[in-house]
Order: sequence, then structure tokens, then C-alpha cells
Amino acid sequence: MTTPPATILWFRQDLRLTDNSALIAALQRGGPVLPVYIDSSAEEAPWAAGAASRWWLHQSLASLDQQLRRLDTQLLIRRGSAQQILDELLNVSSATAVYWNRRYEPAVIARDQLVKAALRKRGIAAESFNSALLVEPWQVQNQAGKPFQVFTPFWRHVMKSLDPPAVLAAPQHWPNANRAGAYKKRTAAVGQLTLNDLGLLPRINWYQSMANTWTPGEQGAAEQLEIFLDAAVLQYDTGRDRPAVRGTSQLSPHLHFGEISPRQIWHALAQHAVASTPDAAQRTGWRGSQYVTELGWREFAHHLLFHFPHTPLEPLRTEFARFPWAQDAAALRAWQQGRTGVPLIDAGLRELWATGWMHNRVRMIVASFLIKNLRLPWQDGARWFWDTLVDADLASNTMGWQWSAGCGADAAPYFRIFNPVTQGKRFDPDGSYVRRWVPELAALGPKHVHAPWEAPPQELSAARVQLGISYPLPMVDLQISRAAALKAFQTLRAS
Ligand code: FAD
Repeated sequence: MTTPPATILWFRQDLRLTDNSALIAALQRGGPVLPVYIDSSAEEAPWAAGAASRWWLHQSLASLDQQLRRLDTQLLIRRGSAQQILDELLNVSSATAVYWNRRYEPAVIARDQLVKAALRKRGIAAESFNSALLVEPWQVQNQAGKPFQVFTPFWRHVMKSLDPPAVLAAPQHWPNANRAGAYKKRTAAVGQLTLNDLGLLPRINWYQSMANTWTPGEQGAAEQLEIFLDAAVLQYDTGRDRPAVRGTSQLSPHLHFGEISPRQIWHALAQHAVASTPDAAQRTGWRGSQYVTELGWREFAHHLLFHFPHTPLEPLRTEFARFPWAQDAAALRAWQQGRTGVPLIDAGLRELWATGWMHNRVRMIVASFLIKNLRLPWQDGARWFWDTLVDADLASNTMGWQWSAGCGADAAPYFRIFNPVTQGKRFDPDGSYVRRWVPELAALGPKHVHAPWEAPPQELSAARVQLGISYPLPMVDLQISRAAALKAFQTLRAS
């Protein structure tokens, strides 16, 4: 009996075995399956991947490779042009198919279209699958047949018929692993790399605090979901706005790298509702919950990026291209380093630097401060987040920054300017978030921890705070800079 031909399984941002559509389809062909990862980041985004993201990718690939080794196979690792490497692998194997899960970044879509056409031309079955979204961007349109630009009608429309398919179980064994092993030997001739060869880890170990915070990989993602369901999902509506507590799921980097799928989260929420809601009639309430809505924002971000592919660099609302932005490298550096003298802003940016993550409310506040109080271009902030976030994601980051600048779809109006002191008092009322990340202010009481410049001298000296020495004075006056931002906005409207 002859074994069916081999399939190349091209892993990308789907670094998991469970609920992986391309993987299951490849295994169903019945022949050997060669799992491959190609580091072709240079052809995938406007900017090279940031250091935090590369650190995560290294750990995630290591974890995937371990899982594959338990199934008697292993990840083939390559670097370079995806097209060229797939061609080389096809030349040395007798694979007749290449399967992968889709991504939605403009450069990736363009590259994948070329790859698919070239493979099909040489007679290879090239197939792509959805494993990252609940609904793909081209499946949703408004009554006029156009993409949605406002979240609420988008999500209402999606939810009317949303019924994600069941989760696909991870394979328990890898068929024809021996034959796949033989291919591995042959493909070694065309430049097999080790994970370390990819050089994803920085030479200096500045990432220890990230390593202490996260467990990248499929197992880490499953544990993180478990923790969230056990401890926080029922209080999500209130907990999600408190940066000092673990009130959100912290699944964003796991979702970005595809270590867990939104379908898995969806079905886990449904099961959790059955287990935790005694009244059967109320067991569907989770579908309209705030947490599911947040997953909807992730879907919306992908919808926008797909339909408006120029937005990572340019405002969706074109008049904002004429906004009179400031140019101030020193101010940008102070913001990046969390030395603005405004405690909540500094806390957020230091949390980002230490852990590669920042709480969503604080992301909105630091973005507003950069764009409005400092009047620096939103693209500068987006670039910094790209370099430092472990969940850096072209779709969500672009939407978040354009929303904050008031120049995107469903944006907060430009004139809505967050006051970081008021926000701090409201969402970090006892100041514990600021104290954790800005230890210079640790001994200040809740009344002044968000605005130390308002504290009487005795209180500052009792707390050993010397403004301008141990902690900076605020780099801008919040009221004056707010007024200046509004004035700049008026010039835009006038012109
Ligand atoms: P939870 O509150 O537990 O939400 C669950 C999931 O829903 C998240 O993991 C995420 O995938 C999705 N989600 C939640 N809020 C949003 C949102 N506003 N937009 C899109 N998806 C959302 N998110 C990223 O994943 N990558 C980014 O690069 C990114 N950049 C951002 C930049 C700015 C300026 C802003 C304001 C927001 C940005 N976000 C980004 C969105 C949001 O801040 C994070 O997704 C969220 O903080 C992740 O934490 P969590 O997993 O605990 O979220």
C-alpha cells in the first residue's frame, strides 16, 4: 500500500496544536506532514518586529517544537523569503501540498497571494485556512455593501449569526513521523537552522522581568485562560478598568501569536457559563458580556486593517495628515522612558518596559498624553508600542492609536482629552498601581500620589520626594497643554 504524499505545514501566527485548521487538514491528507517555521518578518510588516515581540516568538517556537517532539516530529526552522524557502523544501521533499492559516496584515496578504499563485503554478495544492478570527473581514459588510467603520453596528451585525465551529482537538500522534524524520535529514542539506540561529533573543538579558511575568506557548495560554475563568471573568466589568489588579485576561500576546484561538476562548466561556450559572435561562448571557465585546474589538481591528490597509502609517480621516504636530525628540524620549513627571503616565510606560504589556485603560491615557498634551504624532507612539509590547499587533495597535488620536474609525473625538490625574484618582484610587511602578513616590498618600506637585512641602519631605530631583516635575502643565491641543485642533477644522 502506498502512503499518500507529504504536506508542508507552514506555521506562522498559529503556534499551537489545538484548534489549528491547517494542521488538521494537513493530517487528514494522510501522508507525512512536515512542520515548518520561516522567519520572513522582513517581508511582513512596515517595521521589523520589536525586541519584546521577538523574545516572545523565541519562547513560543521553543514551546511548539517541544510539543512536536513529544509527537516524534520537530519544527523545521528557516529564515528568508517564504517563497524561496518553500520552493527549496518542495525540491527536496516529495510534498504535493502546502497548508497554512491566514494572516491579515497588508504585506502578508500580498506576499501570500504571490506564494499561493506560484505554488499552484507548479502543481502544488496550496491551501489557506482561518484559525485566527471569529469572522473574516470579507464576510462582513454593511447594508451599503461597504466595510463597517463604527464598532457597535459591526459587532451587532456579527453577533446576529455568530456560531463558531467546535474546537478541533490536538493530534495525539503524528502520522508517518519516521518518514517526516527522513525528510528532515534531506532538508537539512538546504540550511536547517536552530532556534538560536534566528537570533531572536537580545544579547543582553534585559528581559528577565518579562520572563518572570509570562509563560509563552500553548500551555501557558491555556493556563492563563484557566486563571482568568477561575478568578476574574465574573468581575470583568468592574475589574477591567483597574490597572492595579489582575482584572483582565492578559491573553493578548497569546492571541497574537496564535497560541490560543478566539474560538477556544468562546467555547470555554460557554462551558464556564454552564458550570457557574445555576439558572439555565441565563446561561447565554455571556454572549453579550463585556469580555466578548472586547474580543469583538479585536475582530473589528482586523476588519479595519484589511479594508483600510494604509492605516498603520496614515490617518483614516485624511484631514489629520495636516495636523500641526510638534517635533520634540527629548519629549518623546521622556515619555518613552516614563520620566514625564505625571505619575500615571510614567507608571504605564515603566510597566510596558518591564513586562512588555500595559493595561488597556493606561494605554489609552498614555496615548492621549503623547498625542494631545505633548502634541507628538500618534505614529511615534505606535512605533514605540510596536518595539516594546509583547502583544504588538498591526491591527490592534493601529486601531488603538488612531482611536486615541481621533483620526480613525469609531475614534474618540480629538477634543476628548484624558486628564491623567482625574483618571488616576478614579481608576487607581489608592495609588497602588503608581506606587508599584514609580517607587520614588511609594511613600506618598493616595491624595497626592497622582499629582505630587499639589502636595504640601511637609508631605513631600515626609515621603522623601524632591520634585525635580528624585522625581521629575511635570514636563507640561496639563491645563495649558490641553488648551493648546484644542487650539491646534481648531486650526485643522478651520483649514
Ligand atoms: P482583555 O481585557 O482580557 O481582553 C481580551 C482580549 O480582547 C484581548 O486579549 C485582546 O485580544 C482583545 N482586546 C481587548 N481590548 C481590545 C482593544 N481595545 N482592541 C483590540 N483588541 C482588544 N492590543 C493588542 O493585542 N496589541 C496591540 O498592539 C495593541 N495596541 C494598543 C494600542 C493602544 C494605544 C490602545 C489604546 C490599545 C491597544 N491594544 C492592543 C488593545 C488592548 O489594550 C489590549 O488588547 C489589551 O490591553 C490586552 O490585555 P488583555 O488581554 O488583558 O485584554
